[in-house]
Amino acid sequence: MASVELRGVSKSFHSVDVIRNVDLTVADGEFVVFVGPSGCGKSTLLRLIAGLISVSSGEVAIDGEAVTDVPASARGIAFVFQSYALYPHMNVERNIGFALETSGLKRDAIRAKVMEVAKLLKVDHLMGRRPRELSGGQRQRVAIGRALVRKPEVFLFDEPLSNLDTDLRAEMRVEIARLHKDLGVTTIYVTHDQVEAMTLADRIVVLNAGVIEQVGTPHELYHSPRSRFVAGFIGSPR
Ligand code: ADP
Ligand code: MG
Repeated sequence: MASVELRGVSKSFHSVDVIRNVDLTVADGEFVVFVGPSGCGKSTLLRLIAGLISVSSGEVAIDGEAVTDVPASARGIAFVFQSYALYPHMNVERNIGFALETSGLKRDAIRAKVMEVAKLLKVDHLMGRRPRELSGGQRQRVAIGRALVRKPEVFLFDEPLSNLDTDLRAEMRVEIARLHKDLGVTTIYVTHDQVEAMTLADRIVVLNAGVIEQVGTPHELYHSPRSRFVAGFIGSPR
């Protein structure tokens, strides 16, 4: 596990400032949720942390070390997206284990790791199925499994449940909370869903037009929103 620090991070695209001087420390093992309106920069922040894009200024540090020159693949970060494209022609076992196939591990060792993750996510009875033979929730479990099998230091989730119906969302929310409790992997999670934010987060970060509007525990934000804007996302009705 690892801490994640953003130190004065800014990002512009074609001279439009999308992220503006963001400072944030996510502690080792913490679960932090980003909320904010569409286009405020949530996905961009995750991509900066993952190293999928580079900062315009400032730095990202993992476990206290600046990772400016560290490529995405070496940051120990796993990313789960909203649209989790599984390999359609591969079964569940291979979808989860694919990243390990080029790792030099022996087939039995890969199988054991995949099995461990599949059990954790309760898809171990589905190993032979193709993605099209799975429900939406099962597919999302496999997508999480594929990220988890690499034993990440940090987990990034970008609206992972927004394509699921209400019941599945509730079920997966509980699973994600359980996984975090069991494994304690540092997690940054983007959502539109207030219930997800309130129930999953150790702390919530409210973003507005590329800046942090407020950071606090769900309790703090609910009871003491600093602005009408924050209240609109998280605050108690008043
Ligand atoms: P959110 O995830 O909060 O909805 P994003 O981080 O996706 O917002 O986008 C923030 C802003 O940055 C938006 O205005 C978006 O159009 C812009 N943006 C994101 N990625 C790019 C890119 N690769 N090129 C140009 N503009 C981008
Ligand atoms: Mg987004």
